[in-house]
Amino acid sequence: MTAAAIDGRAVAGRIRGEIATAAAALATESGIWPGLAAILVGDHPASAAYVRSKQKACEEAGIRSRVLRLPAETTERELQRQVDALNLDPEIHGILVQLPLPGHMNEGRVVRSVDPTKDVDGFHPLNVGRVALGELEDAFVPATPAGILRLLDETGTELRGAEAVVVGRSAIVGKPTAALLLQRSATVTACHSATRDLASHTRRADVLVVAVGKPGIVTGEMVQPGAVVIDVGINRIADPDGGKGRLVGDVEFDSVSAVAGWLTPVPGGVGPMTIAMLLDNTLRAARRSARIDPGKGSSA
Ligand code: NDP
Repeated sequence: MTAAAIDGRAVAGRIRGEIATAAAALATESGIWPGLAAILVGDHPASAAYVRSKQKACEEAGIRSRVLRLPAETTERELQRQVDALNLDPEIHGILVQLPLPGHMNEGRVVRSVDPTKDVDGFHPLNVGRVALGELEDAFVPATPAGILRLLDETGTELRGAEAVVVGRSAIVGKPTAALLLQRSATVTACHSATRDLASHTRRADVLVVAVGKPGIVTGEMVQPGAVVIDVGINRIADPDGGKGRLVGDVEFDSVSAVAGWLTPVPGGVGPMTIAMLLDNTLRAARRSARIDPGKGSSA
């Protein structure tokens, strides 16, 4: 068997097109253009690249984007001041603080200072709690887990009653993905660094989500024939000749592809979905603001 590729780029492109149409419609109906602000502290190259690609995606989808670049030595107090200003800014519906922050800042405290109604990353404890409770209508679901679920739906996989195994339990990927799968009535196993005999779990999976950050942690012999495998990992493999290197996932692509029914490529799988779902959250935030401000009309 050769796994069918789940083309995240194509799905994300479609979603972004839908968002562009909906954003223009919202502007016509209510005069509100969705606005997203990103705060970048310091000059972490990967973070700067993420923010650039989010900005470009916003422009293409008709979402107004603003980027605040602050020096690495910015105090947490000054950062909080900037967040407070964006919390009050009616043109901004989504705020994301690009992580990681410099070591002298308390990330949890900064994340909690973002207005939960503008927390399009879904990292505020209020949104984390809503996802855990299954109150998804009112929550901002973090973009990567939301993208993973959309890709699973693209394959037509019945999640109800499926054995789902999530490898990795981070707050931004593993845990919310497990919560969303549970909400969809899959039988969920969450694996992590203390899991004994990882393969005994992954082999049972009808749906296997791998979010660890270690290339090749899942190989073909660890996968049930026909399983749907979502590879979230992004790992840069160094180029021995000193070039840029190449990106690989956590899954050993060739051996897993020979066994699985569906497999996401890296790059071109989950990555593009993350940005699309962030834009989707921003659109939702703008629509909600249109509803709660009757003076500006309603998009409902
Ligand atoms: P974290 O480092 O926060 O979490 C990694 C998780 O993997 C932890 O829960 C850890 O367990 C677990 N783990 C480590 N070693 C093992 C092991 N041997 N067996 C089982 N589990 C193990 O990473 P993230 O969740 O933030 O990211 C994971 C990967 O996904 C990274 O490659 C990242 O770059 C990528 N990523 C991709 C995105 C995309 O858009 N495609 C978005 C976000 C992340 P423990 O908790 O016990 O330490």
